[in-house]
Parts: sequence; C-alpha cells; structure tokens
Amino acid sequence: MYENMLRRLNDRKAQILIVDDQIINAEILANGLSDLYDVIIATSGQEALACAKRDVPDLILLDIRMPDIDGYAVLSELQETIATQDIPVIFVTGEDSMDDELKGLQHGAKDYVRKPFELELVKARVSIQIELKRKTDLLNLMASADGLTGLANRRKFDESLTRLIRDSARHKTPLALILLDIDFFKQYNDLYGHAAGDRCLIDVSAVLATVAKRTTDVVARVGGEEFALLLPNMDTSRAALLCEKLHRSIAERKITHEGSLVAKTLTVSIGATIATVDAELSSEAFYKRVDKLLYQAKANGRAQTCLD
Ligand code: GH3
Ligand code: MG
Ligand code: MG
Repeated sequence: MYENMLRRLNDRKAQILIVDDQIINAEILANGLSDLYDVIIATSGQEALACAKRDVPDLILLDIRMPDIDGYAVLSELQETIATQDIPVIFVTGEDSMDDELKGLQHGAKDYVRKPFELELVKARVSIQIELKRKTDLLNLMASADGLTGLANRRKFDESLTRLIRDSARHKTPLALILLDIDFFKQYNDLYGHAAGDRCLIDVSAVLATVAKRTTDVVARVGGEEFALLLPNMDTSRAALLCEKLHRSIAERKITHEGSLVAKTLTVSIGATIATVDAELSSEAFYKRVDKLLYQAKANGRAQTCLD
C-alpha cells in the first residue's frame, strides 16, 4: 500500500492551474506546459479559488491584476485554507517594478515571472517548483505514513486526535475513537513466522481502510498490532454498527489462526468511545478511556467490542 502511494506520487503527471483573466495569456502558457503537465485554466480570482479547492493542483501560475479578486487576495485565501495552503504559487504579471516583485514574494509566492514572458524561462521555473513540490510531498508522506501498511502513523494520529477533538467541540458534533488490537498475535507470529505476521497486518489495515472510508476518517496504526480509527460525526449507535462490521469483515477474510484460543481464524478486540461535546477533554484522557475499554474487551474473552 505504501509502495503504491509512493508510485502514485512519482508516476502521476503534476497538475498546474493557470489563472489569467485574459484567456489568450493563459492559453499560451497552457500550450507550452501541457506536454509535461496536466493543465487547468481559470479566468478569474473566484474561479481560481474554486478550482484550487476542488483539484488541489501541484502549482498555480497566478496573474495579479484581475477584475474580481486580485492575485494577492487569491494567494491570501489559499494560504488560509488548510487544503490549499501548501500549493506553491508563481505570480505571472505585468507589474514590473521591483516593489511589486518584492511584494509578491513577501506575500508568499515562490517565484515571479514578468509579462511578456519567455516561455522557456517559465518552463524552467515551473520545473524547479514542481520538483520541489514532489520532494515536499514525499517527505510529508514519509513523516505521516506507517511504512508497512501505508496507514497514518502514530505521529499523524496524535496530530489528528488533537485537531479533531477541537473541531468536535467547536462544531458540537460527536467524534468516535475506536481502538483495535489483534488477538493472540504473538502466537500468530510464533506459528506462521514474522513475514506472515506482516502480511496479516497489511490485510487487517486494508479491511479498516474499506470500512472507514469517508475522507474525514483517520485510520492509523498506533502500535505493533494495534490500530485506531478516528471518525468525525459519528455517534454511539453508528459506531456500534461500524464495530460489528469490523469484526464481520475481518472474519470474512478467514485468516487461519490455529494458535488462537477464541476461534480458528484471526479475530480482534475493540474498545470504542465517543467524545461528547466537551471543550475540556484532553486527547490523553480520551485515549486513556478507549484504551481501558479495549483492555476490558480483552479481559471479557477477546473477539468483541466494549463500547461506552
Ligand atoms: P492479546 O490477545 O492479548 O492482544 O495478545 P497478543 O499476543 O496479540 O499481544 P502481545 O502484545 O503479547 O503481542 C503482540 C505481538 O505483536 C508481539 C509482536 O511480536 C507482534 N508484532 C508487533 N509488531 C509487529 C510487526 O510489525 N510485525 C509482526 N509480524 N509482528 C509484530
Ligand atoms: Mg494483541
Ligand atoms: Mg497489543
């Protein structure tokens, strides 16, 4: 899974959004760049923001002077939106004083191209930014993904937990936290070997990713054979259904486990709890609560959920 993510990152053509209220300018740039990149065009600030939020391109070539929202304002709004704040922007503009160039860079543009532009020069500058973006994406992926399963790693999970507890209190929506631990996994490794154990972890992570697949769901590997799901907007009854589905989907995989004392195939124990609207709830307290429930599920005989 992780390898696939890396491959996708490297194989995919980078996408560039070109923004200019004069369509002819945008088209000249698009013609020059479309061999190497996927190109989309927007002809106003408003349209640029909509495209950027929808497509999250790898780079934006942004005109400054536009009748509705100017380039500086577009850039500011991109920076204020989590999904778009890391998209590099190159200003392409007729403003040609040094002050304008400085202002553009101080606003956070990565580079600055003056009109009329030399296409070859623009292409070279674009290529530098795209290469940098690829490296940044790769670093971000490596820092936040678990190397074996491709799920979010512990670090990313902790970060998400803090953010989602805050969001849940702010929007007064429930947040479910589900902690899942494989039963008798030590015996699984002892019986079938460490490599088979690794394949089993990948199998389980694939089940989790298909059961929790809303874009806002966070699925993480938080320990050796321990996984956590963070599910915004999920109340107790829906969380209970989802836990049942997890048990069922893992059972359907029929992963033989002769060393298990509760079944002949692999099972998991689950602790699950909901953050009620509570601005004071710390992520540590929330996690401790779910950890206790998981422990209880183990103590009650494994292959079951304890939900509170
Ligand atoms: P319980 O039912 O109480 O959860 O027992 P358990 O054996 O699953 O739990 P325990 O914590 O005793 O053992 C966890 C095992 O998980 C031990 C360790 O070898 C294995 N493990 C941890 N990380 C990995 C991994 O990355 N790959 C493999 N193959 N095994 C791992
Ligand atoms: Mg275990
Ligand atoms: Mg464990």
